[in-house]
Amino acid sequence: MQSDVSSDWYNSGAIIPIKVIRATAEMSRYAADLQSHGRRLGLVPTMGYLHKGHLSLMNLLDGQCDVKAASIFVNPIQFGPSEDLSRYPRDEARDLELLEAAGCEVVYSPPPDEVYPPGFQTYVEVEELQRPLCGSFRPGHFRGVATVVLKLFNVTGCSVAAFGQKDFQQAMVIRRMVADLNVPVKLIFGPTIRESDGLAMSSRNVYLSPEERASALTISRSLFASREACSAGDKNARKLAAEIEKALQSDSRIRIEYVDIVDSETLTAIEKIARPARAAIAVYVGKTRLIDNIELL
Ligand code: AMP
Repeated sequence: MQSDVSSDWYNSGAIIPIKVIRATAEMSRYAADLQSHGRRLGLVPTMGYLHKGHLSLMNLLDGQCDVKAASIFVNPIQFGPSEDLSRYPRDEARDLELLEAAGCEVVYSPPPDEVYPPGFQTYVEVEELQRPLCGSFRPGHFRGVATVVLKLFNVTGCSVAAFGQKDFQQAMVIRRMVADLNVPVKLIFGPTIRESDGLAMSSRNVYLSPEERASALTISRSLFASREACSAGDKNARKLAAEIEKALQSDSRIRIEYVDIVDSETLTAIEKIARPARAAIAVYVGKTRLIDNIELL
């Protein structure tokens, strides 16, 4: 490990080879070293297989910290037993190139037992926000997310961290955890980055066949249509949700998990759109589970 962070090896403006840290103890030492020199670390937590959505979050850290960092960790405890943990796409070499080009200096990429050593048994639960939407179909998912994010914050000592609104419920769960547990990390939330035809970028899009990829477009199209209907004066949440469902059901490759219109703060379903609200969707396109959401008001 480079121990003297006061030298200009990481901050000279030149392209610096990205530093990959796999051991948690080494990441903690690096974090302590940075902190002792008054340097702020900014973190983008990811599960790897990066795309422009992730990189947009790296860019959001510009001016917010002294060292930009990312984590790459496919977190086993947020996957259910029948989910895609073992086949989750991975390409670390490519991820590191993309991160380096985005100005990321440090990557924490631990193996699972560096994060969950034998005997691990402590979890974070954000009791109410973890329940609706994805929470009701993926029991334990947000407990896994909140737990790993708090650990990543603690190990990296980050002072700022960026998350995407593509995973809106996740963002809300983390925001609540940070407030409730007095976690000294500033959170930045970035907008959903989409392909030019509207599909929300996702590491899981790689699973889609060309036909499924075409079907998946109905997700963003139905959300955009809903937003337009809402801004044209249609505030009946049930009706808007029914219209989204109808569009999705018209495609035989799509199986709906949920279509919900929820209060943006509490994530509970609403009848009438009178305060900040979001439409949120989870569907299977073939075997691939995709989520998306949009701000309605
Ligand atoms: P993941 O690697 O899927 O765990 O995502 C890591 C971070 O990137 C999370 O904060 C996600 O919300 C964010 N993210 C994923 N996809 C997008 C996207 N299309 N636009 C913006 N942020 C995204």
